[in-house]
Amino acid sequence: MEKRIVCKFGGSNFKSRESVRAIVEAVELYDQPLILVVSAFYGITNYLTEGIETVQHSESHVEELIGTIKEKKMESIDFSIEEESCRRETYALVDQRLDELKRYLLGVHYIGELPHSVKDKILSYGERLSSLILTKTLEARGFDVEEALPEDLGLITDGEYSSASVDFKESEKRIPRNLGDRRIYVVPGFYGISPEGQITLLGRGGSDYSAAAIARAAGASSLDIWKDVDGYMTANPKIIPQARPVPALSYREAAELSYFGANILHPRTVEPLLDRNIPIRILNIEGDRTRLLPLTIIDDSSPEDNHSARSVTYSDDIAILRITGPGVGIKGGILGRITTGLDDRDINIKSVVTSQTSINVYLSSADLAPSVRALEELNLPTVTRLTPMDSISIIALVGENLLDHPEQAGRIVAPLVRVGIKMPIVSLGASEGTAYFVVSHKDRDRALQIIHRNFFEEQGQSS
Ligand code: ASP
Ligand code: MG
Repeated sequence: MEKRIVCKFGGSNFKSRESVRAIVEAVELYDQPLILVVSAFYGITNYLTEGIETVQHSESHVEELIGTIKEKKMESIDFSIEEESCRRETYALVDQRLDELKRYLLGVHYIGELPHSVKDKILSYGERLSSLILTKTLEARGFDVEEALPEDLGLITDGEYSSASVDFKESEKRIPRNLGDRRIYVVPGFYGISPEGQITLLGRGGSDYSAAAIARAAGASSLDIWKDVDGYMTANPKIIPQARPVPALSYREAAELSYFGANILHPRTVEPLLDRNIPIRILNIEGDRTRLLPLTIIDDSSPEDNHSARSVTYSDDIAILRITGPGVGIKGGILGRITTGLDDRDINIKSVVTSQTSINVYLSSADLAPSVRALEELNLPTVTRLTPMDSISIIALVGENLLDHPEQAGRIVAPLVRVGIKMPIVSLGASEGTAYFVVSHKDRDRALQIIHRNFFEEQGQSS
């Protein structure tokens, strides 16, 4: 059989009742056999996440939650499936799935607690409802299609609840064996199965990562990620109206941009694909739906000697905890105790920058206060002060080999210093292709404008 293409449709592709129709139009553009990986309808995962907290105290909330989801699904079915008997059949199947969900929610209510295994199972229902509705819609339109759940396909994980990693080796053995010869399979994203057969989520926003893992295991010719925006841009166009599209990126550039806040791909999407050289293509469902028009292509074909900047991105979800004390930089074991102490409390460290007298730990904003508490408890020798820094943004300029030329550093920093923007920490070259620095919130947009002007506009174009 011809190689398959894996297409991923995310929450932004399931926003309104017209959405499923638009997805069908996108699917019609392909001649190749497909695997469609889908996210939950927009907002549903958040709704379920909040819901499982409330149902622990209130039984009536179970009905309310199921009722709200059902209403949305039925509206979508009514709009997508015209033929009466297909529609009735889909209603019944959706009802069945909602009944399963309801039983789990009632279980949580009566037990009064929420084991990780049950939480992951409940949250996976957002995706499973999408896959069911899309499968039935395509079937009603005459496509040769079947739903394939990760448990049937054999998408195997390391078994860690809420943020599992895919076991590529195991999945690569099973998925090709379990795929039949239908032209289209529809797979709910966001979860895989532990070696013991439990549902394990792949982390928030994890459907991109599911799709990439499936593309790898199925030996796909391409991973097509459908969005509702025009792919990667040189900057966020809401802040920089002059931003231009970025037609090509390397895997590493895409990963760095995602890591530093560009909201196009989950940061782990490239991981399964790099050593297979399966390209990722970004397409816009709101664009021209009469032809396949990839807006950004991510692969390893960009020339090695390319030193240009690709895009500047930012994230506001950043805080720094500065740990000061004489000799924290040379005292052996301190850094290890800090990282272990935070890890023990499930706090993820984004980055660490050290000097002789201070260690700066980059964190998610929400982790700042818990980190301060954790380090106070650890009561580390030689640490004299903990300084939490909030209300900051991290800005990252990404481009493969960008920092090979030493003068680039000056080009980034000097114009900001000149206008009086303070940067408490600048880190150039932590990963060759990315220069990042922190500014105060209020300076964020101005810093982005200056960097964009210098690297992406007219005579300032990077070469
Ligand atoms: N629905 C999941 C989430 O919101 C997974 C995804 O959208 O990729 O996190
Ligand atoms: Mg997403």
